[in-house]
Amino acid sequence: MILIKKSGDLLSHISKLRASNLRIGFVPTMGALHLGHLSLIEAAKKNCDVVVCSIFVNPTQFNQLSDLNSYPRTIENDIQLLLSCSCDILFHPEVTEIYGETLEKESTEDYGTFIHLLEGASRPGHFDGVVTVLRKLFKIVLPHQVFFGQKDYQQCLVVNMLIQRSFPEVKFNLCPIAREIDGLAMSSRNVRLTASERLLAPKIYENLQLVAQNWNLTSWQSAMNQAIENLSNEPFVFEYLSACDQNSLEELGSFQEDAIILAAVRLGSTRLIDNIIIQP
Ligand code: AMP
Repeated sequence: MILIKKSGDLLSHISKLRASNLRIGFVPTMGALHLGHLSLIEAAKKNCDVVVCSIFVNPTQFNQLSDLNSYPRTIENDIQLLLSCSCDILFHPEVTEIYGETLEKESTEDYGTFIHLLEGASRPGHFDGVVTVLRKLFKIVLPHQVFFGQKDYQQCLVVNMLIQRSFPEVKFNLCPIAREIDGLAMSSRNVRLTASERLLAPKIYENLQLVAQNWNLTSWQSAMNQAIENLSNEPFVFEYLSACDQNSLEELGSFQEDAIILAAVRLGSTRLIDNIIIQP
């Protein structure tokens, strides 16, 4: 694996690979890698000739400085994990390499109403930062295909829109959520959970499943109410559990066969999100 820290070095390396007709797959991450990230690398390896993983804790997508500062950074371990799954290139730039001296971000105001719902409402400006960094990274990595996790479903819709608008030649791949044995969605933030919080955290997925298993005309609403109640008790701090249209993310007013159930709760100082897609 080659480790590259400078944008110019990566761009010239990728340009040579593209000139040799090699297909570039890209997996952007913020590091503190786990098996969920590695599943994206594996998907990229299956579909592309050369896989680039970026590790960059993007300051513009954090709403709280404390969250940015306490975000886990485990680069030595990350490098070992990337070696273990035969990633070809790690791009690990400094903040100034990507942003220069000022952390300016673009606006997603015109992306549509879905941008303001769910994560958009809970984390104002978050998607502005996501789009800003991805546009910069896509211009350096020049990927043929990109790989994102369903765990951040709303982010996937945002990235899809960025691609449609600005990088129509890039293929977007949605990859399934990797889970711990007890169902908890893998996340870099899970290491922040205390032992007792970690024991309770699988309840998020359990309650999403409760809704998915009762997804029919007569039971869906009572299952939703029950799941919301279950996740509203201490030590959970409930943010949302919503049954939404998969494209618009509008909350469903009546039953429909396909949907997505998304949840966000806090456990102590850790904010966790998860979702289940319901297909007819
Ligand atoms: P992050 O490092 O949290 O920015 O995540 C980088 C990429 O990994 C994003 O596309 C995430 O959606 C994806 N990802 C995070 N957790 C998981 C997971 N448990 N399963 C699959 N993909 C994931």
